Amino acid sequence: MCTQKGLLDNSVMYLQVISHETCHLFYMSHCVFFDCLMNKSRSVAEAMSQPLYLCPVCTRKLQKVLRFPSVVQYLKNILHFLHQLVEAGISNRQLTDTVMWFEHCITVTESKPAVLTQTKSID
Ligand SMILES: [Zn+2]
Ligand SMILES: [Zn+2]
Repeated sequence: MCTQKGLLDNSVMYLQVISHETCHLFYMSHCVFFDCLMNKSRSVAEAMSQPLYLCPVCTRKLQKVLRFPSVVQYLKNILHFLHQLVEAGISNRQLTDTVMWFEHCITVTESKPAVLTQTKSID
């Protein structure tokens, strides 16, 4: 039997799996640097224990592939999407932690614009 909580938990799980697999479509391999959406997992439980966000190394890889000009704008776009999920009633501890992580990352990157927001050093 599917409960409301089960559907919400599954929504976050689907988001995590789709995000991870989509990054593979952009030729991103498994991450060995930090706790990251792109970490390799050997079980569903292990996969669900991993974060919903990319580490700085993988964010940089995605920036290079997609050529988005601003890491800050990327972070704001993802945060806007996450807020929409929460407003739609999709929320759990992992999603709440992820929202807080993106808010923190935006604060940090906006305080260091010369290092993290220039596109010149991408290529
Ligand atoms: Zn994978
Ligand atoms: Zn990574």
